[in-house]
Amino acid sequence: MPIINPIIALTLLILENEIPNSMLFQNLILGLFFASLITYLSYRLKFLDCSGAIAAFILAQLIFDLGGLKWSVPIITFFISSSILTKLNNRKNIEVRDYFEKSGARDYLQVIANGGIGGILVLVNAFYQNELFYLIYIASLSSVCADTWATEFGTWRKTATYNALNLKPAAQGISGGISVTGLIGALGGSLCIALSAIGWVEISYIRFVILVLLTGFLGSYFDSILGAAVQVQYLCPVCNRVTERKIHCGKHTDYFRGFSWINNDVVNLFSGIMGAMLIVVFKSFIKF
Ligand SMILES: [Zn+2]
Repeated sequence: MPIINPIIALTLLILENEIPNSMLFQNLILGLFFASLITYLSYRLKFLDCSGAIAAFILAQLIFDLGGLKWSVPIITFFISSSILTKLNNRKNIEVRDYFEKSGARDYLQVIANGGIGGILVLVNAFYQNELFYLIYIASLSSVCADTWATEFGTWRKTATYNALNLKPAAQGISGGISVTGLIGALGGSLCIALSAIGWVEISYIRFVILVLLTGFLGSYFDSILGAAVQVQYLCPVCNRVTERKIHCGKHTDYFRGFSWINNDVVNLFSGIMGAMLIVVFKSFIKF
């Protein structure tokens, strides 16, 4: 059997009595096929670097094997839509892109920051099946997808940008900057995730879409607040611009502000956790 990594092998061994063997085997083969395909394509298209490709392969296989299409389609939707937006954008607004810590190919930390919560949830759900885990999963994806789309939309063209904390005008593309186009992007990203999962949910469609839009939107706004308040930023000694990058204009940048351990990946992870927590709270309020 093509069992690639030990975590999955162990889980499958434990689960063997819970899920019919034929289904498990089917998921395994499908999982191996899709995980390989996605990893290969995203590496070839330079969506992922080598470490990112390995992380994505393990994560994709885990989610395919244990969650089937129900869990796989939403995360693939997030991954493909974000990668395409990033690729399209990279050609456009080079001045603004220059600010970001990472542009283009994602590394393993970025894969974990965006999909790690999903990996944990699909594992937990394999042992203690509960529909709530799926909702939490979708909410966390919605939040990171909203954030990625917001960043891409908000830096597409020159647009008025404001600090998420105090709403004062801010430089476009800066951590914690928000704009009208960015907010539209956030809603688009959330909606995209909601639609990708809607066929599998057990609550009413309208309630589900509202929950996912709300948690995605607020989760990504939380991302901007963290970006404005605590994310580490550096100052380039050559061009004198604030940036997320440790190296800019070929020189090491100087510390400017924020906590040194809170980089963009950590902020994304927190934003996903925020989305996950919000849906648990909102689920008890929004009922129809
Ligand atoms: Zn510079």
